[in-house]
Amino acid sequence: MIPYGHQNISDEDIKSVVDVLKSEYLTQGPIVPKFEKIVCDYTGANFAVAVNSGTSALHIACLALGVGKNDLVWTTPITFVASANSALYCGAKIDFVDIDTVTWNMSTDALSKKLKDAKKNESLPKVLIVVHFCGTPCDMSEIHALSQEYGFKIIEDACHAIGAKYLDSTIGACQYSDITVFSFHPVKTITTGEGGMAVTNDKLLVEKMELLRSHGITRNPDEMTQEPDGPWYYEQISLGFNYRMTDMQAALGVSQMTRLDEFVSKRQMIANNYDRLLSDLPIKSQNRSTESYSGMHLYVIRLSTDKIKKTHKEIFLSMREKGIGVNLHYMPIHLQPYYKKLGFNHGDFPNAEAYYLEAITLPMFPDLTKGEQEKVIKTLGESLS
Ligand SMILES: *Cc1c(COP(=O)(O)O)cnc(C)c1O
Repeated sequence: MIPYGHQNISDEDIKSVVDVLKSEYLTQGPIVPKFEKIVCDYTGANFAVAVNSGTSALHIACLALGVGKNDLVWTTPITFVASANSALYCGAKIDFVDIDTVTWNMSTDALSKKLKDAKKNESLPKVLIVVHFCGTPCDMSEIHALSQEYGFKIIEDACHAIGAKYLDSTIGACQYSDITVFSFHPVKTITTGEGGMAVTNDKLLVEKMELLRSHGITRNPDEMTQEPDGPWYYEQISLGFNYRMTDMQAALGVSQMTRLDEFVSKRQMIANNYDRLLSDLPIKSQNRSTESYSGMHLYVIRLSTDKIKKTHKEIFLSMREKGIGVNLHYMPIHLQPYYKKLGFNHGDFPNAEAYYLEAITLPMFPDLTKGEQEKVIKTLGESLS
């Protein structure tokens, strides 16, 4: 089976993890801040907080921005459930903005309309979580302008988009947002096994997130309510979690970062190859604006079902049977049973629902060979007819 995604682990990666195992610190030690600094240097962000998953990073990003009970958070329905769950963890209410029909990112037009209505009803969101779907950046300058007009904060869920660029800025620079979040799950562009990071340019936000990462405990006398009782003394000043990353994970991250640009350029080459090989088939690919550089985490196609006799499911199953590990990213979140219980329904976000009936994720990872790619396309051609 050719998988849809696969990590790339080098001998240097292995050595750097083993070196940590032989050192003093296993969990958060000197390598975590080193990894954070490398990601800051790469993205241009001033501060970073490494945590144990992308989901944890989203959670503490929401909390740092003050998301709480009865606040509203909006995101896209076509993303991993964690993008929306993070708001629910804080007791907030979630709502969605439908996707654009060609970029498959959150539609800026739909967002603009929904904000206008929300202003009338006094139901504006506190935070908007945008997702750079497949690694392709959202229209951040437009979204940022809307945030200024309507007064909401922005989290970029860049779990697909490390190594991507929007206009002149690297994703993670937070030029158009308050916080950007990355995931280092093995299917993502670089991996730490499990792991994630939140980056920001705002000192207050990073301080809040650092506290939340580790139980809300501080050892910094400046943050304490009283003089330390002694050298053992620490204070819990907020309710935090144990979301720490280990030094073993950070060491893998540090080593992987040296190949990030190579990984993304290989993904870009594979994507361009797919674009070319697929041009004669009755399918559509994501519209990747020439103004940005996609991280190409996923290569998703949409079947032009009106031009194909077989059903979406038949084609998907046929690909799997023939050894192609296709996948589907994602079922619209509002159709998940848990979200339906919250009051969402079929018909709420028609573009997302239409997408779900046509989308198939093709294999995409740096070590995918030309031969394997040709096999994917040949199998797709056979499965369509
Ligand atoms: C992977 C992913 C997450 C969650 O990251 P984890 O590290 O698995 O917790 C969140 N959002 C998106 C868009 C993702 O792809």
